[in-house]
Amino acid sequence: MRINPDKCVACGNCTYVCPMGAIYIDPVKRRATVNRSECVECYACFNGLSQEHLNPTFVRTVRKLFQMARVRFDPEPDVCPTAAFEPEKLEWPRIVRRAFSDPRVPHESTGVHGRGTEEVKTNDVSGRVQTGEAGFTIEFGRPGVGVWFRDIQKMCWALARAGVAFEKKNPVTSLMKDLATGTLREDILDEKVLSAIVEIKVPVAMVEEVIGLVREMEKQIDTVIALGVGARCNENGEEDVVAPILEKLGYKLERAKTNIGLGRVTNAA
Ligand code: SF4
Ligand code: SF4
Repeated sequence: MRINPDKCVACGNCTYVCPMGAIYIDPVKRRATVNRSECVECYACFNGLSQEHLNPTFVRTVRKLFQMARVRFDPEPDVCPTAAFEPEKLEWPRIVRRAFSDPRVPHESTGVHGRGTEEVKTNDVSGRVQTGEAGFTIEFGRPGVGVWFRDIQKMCWALARAGVAFEKKNPVTSLMKDLATGTLREDILDEKVLSAIVEIKVPVAMVEEVIGLVREMEKQIDTVIALGVGARCNENGEEDVVAPILEKLGYKLERAKTNIGLGRVTNAA
């Protein structure tokens, strides 16, 4: 995302809508400026503010005159008064930022809106996790934090060494050049996104090992990580295989989401 300095009147409205805190008023140029390294191309600034088309020179003059009278003249807070945002035509690899950060943009590799696929939370539809298996979602980043692919890489390498199976239709998996080692394409490692989800599944016997591994690796990764675990219930609607392992590890379990099998399976095992 770019801001046209000829149009910006430094009202500061956009600095409040950027989930990455990537927009700041440059004290020298006295214009809003986007920190390109931190910008994840989510378009929250462009889409979140109404664009008005006031004349920038007129607005600056009025603001100066009001300032002289010690009166503030600010546009409505949900408006960019001079339509100063200019989205760039994003090329590879920067376009990856947008695919993982703007939920309204279909992901190139999956055609799915957002960052993930039908996954373990919708196992009645995805049919990925079978009896005797556990599915994991490892979610990196959040608004305000984000995540670099070079950090996701560290986790994927560790998971691959442990022998997990990466979900093939997952957007992060689609960026791997070597599934066996969990190696991502080099050209995306310096891209930052709002969040991304790695999806894996393992035999139940590996659940404790995977959780320990994620907790160990998270110490080396500078973002927030949320770990989700999914398993199949038995014919009585209970889950008594994975749950005891999680309880032994100190997790207090409550049903987060139970799907009752009314979905149409789209990913036959
Ligand atoms: S909202 Fe528009 S005019 Fe105001 S600081 Fe941001 S880019 Fe500049
Ligand atoms: S595109 Fe998103 S991250 Fe980039 S400046 Fe706009 S709001 Fe911030």
